[in-house]
Amino acid sequence: MGVKKFLGKYIVKADIEVITGLHIGTNKDSLEIGGLDNPVIKDPKGRPYIPGSSLKGKMRVLSEFYHGKVHEKGDVHKCADENCPVCGLFGTSVDNKSNISTFSRTRLIVRDAYLDEKSLEPYADFLETKYTEVKHENSINRVTSRANPRPQERVPAGAIFKAEFVVDEYEGDEKKFLMELFLAMKLLEDDYLGGSGSRGYGKIAFRNIQIVKREKTFYSEGKDESPVSTFGNVEEALSKLK
Ligand SMILES: [Zn+2]
Repeated sequence: MGVKKFLGKYIVKADIEVITGLHIGTNKDSLEIGGLDNPVIKDPKGRPYIPGSSLKGKMRVLSEFYHGKVHEKGDVHKCADENCPVCGLFGTSVDNKSNISTFSRTRLIVRDAYLDEKSLEPYADFLETKYTEVKHENSINRVTSRANPRPQERVPAGAIFKAEFVVDEYEGDEKKFLMELFLAMKLLEDDYLGGSGSRGYGKIAFRNIQIVKREKTFYSEGKDESPVSTFGNVEEALSKLK
């Protein structure tokens, strides 16, 4: 397998609209006095954000299921097939322990998605904190029937985050991996992001999708990027991009 020629990059920008309250937790166990015990992850300015790793990880899993490439032990799928849609887009790490002597290049970069603060202005009066709501989740003790309320911080429905994806194009790819990205975005819309998805949290939708292409000459000769398309949503992109 030779090294394929790099042709350019697709830059895909989209709004992520929160449809049902979103909880992406932090790993910080530190409990501030008077703080929430289930905080959402925030940037240094205290605004919730969606880590690119959370987005990419979830889309990869959904893509593995879609393509029937889920590892029987539940490990991350990796293979040496250069046509593998999952490894081709999301990449494989070089694994010294396995016999896989080659690795797929990672074509996809997912940036952290930051909050559009204006999107929450209409809800300011209803929010418990500047950017979030606090939902009291009840679990019921089966013996005593006593409710056990547990506060959970959430990004409210209506919030918008600014997402950016970059898909590299190599010789022979054409739009294959760009389409794989949109497929993964669609699968994510019909799944959930963050925690408590089976209890209704984390439904999101992609809106206002803009795609531009930066050919190799953009980098080598300073040529302009070229607009590819704009779409209102993922379905439109999937049906018209072919
Ligand atoms: Zn693979």
